[in-house]
Amino acid sequence: MMTRRKAVKNTVLASVALAALPTAIAQTGPATSATIPTDPFTLPPLPYAYDALEPYIDAETMHIHHDKHHAAYVANLNKAVTDYPDVAKMSIEEILKNLNAIPAKIRTAVRNQGGGHYNHSLFWQMLKKDTGVPQGSLASAINESFGSFTAFKEEWTKTAAGVFGSGWTWLVLDADKRLSIEPTPNQDATISDGKEPLLGIDVWEHSYYLKYQNRRPEYVAAFFNVINWDFVSARYEKMIP
Ligand code: MN
Repeated sequence: MMTRRKAVKNTVLASVALAALPTAIAQTGPATSATIPTDPFTLPPLPYAYDALEPYIDAETMHIHHDKHHAAYVANLNKAVTDYPDVAKMSIEEILKNLNAIPAKIRTAVRNQGGGHYNHSLFWQMLKKDTGVPQGSLASAINESFGSFTAFKEEWTKTAAGVFGSGWTWLVLDADKRLSIEPTPNQDATISDGKEPLLGIDVWEHSYYLKYQNRRPEYVAAFFNVINWDFVSARYEKMIP
């Protein structure tokens, strides 16, 4: 016999899975779809296979991280903006850059769930196996800002290890077009603080716990094998024409 607790849990899991479906399918789905907003925000598909980052980030972690955690941020963000059409029509970037303009009643939910959606949408694109080290103008900028790639790596590793609790570490470009490494707590997005993220590492336990357990430093070290430097460099070059 299914306990109430289990039934509730299954309903929640079904909701999360449903949120990942295209709107048209979800709307013709089972009765539960009426209570689960599937727009305006949608979960982007993972841009590669779940096992593409093995052995550094395992397929099971990617499944849970993308299909459950990211999907939940999207579902909860949609829920938060349901009765706020003015917010619902904004892009996620506009929302996070103007948090003070978001109605106080939903501001915290939007900051957390919207930040989670935005950060993870970028994060998947920032990952690719074996792209080496940064090249071109980004490599020069890193050398100029940090002294060398090795020094950048040291500061990055120290910052990521030092995030207390759950959060992220970012390589950002500030309003004066200067590079720096910054941690953010929870799902706060650097664009809320006027800084464009170029590279980010998710140091929430959900991003490494299955493979690395409590050993965050091992995950942070392994991360250097899965940075998509081509994506990060292209992003940098777009911002510094
Ligand atoms: Mn995450």
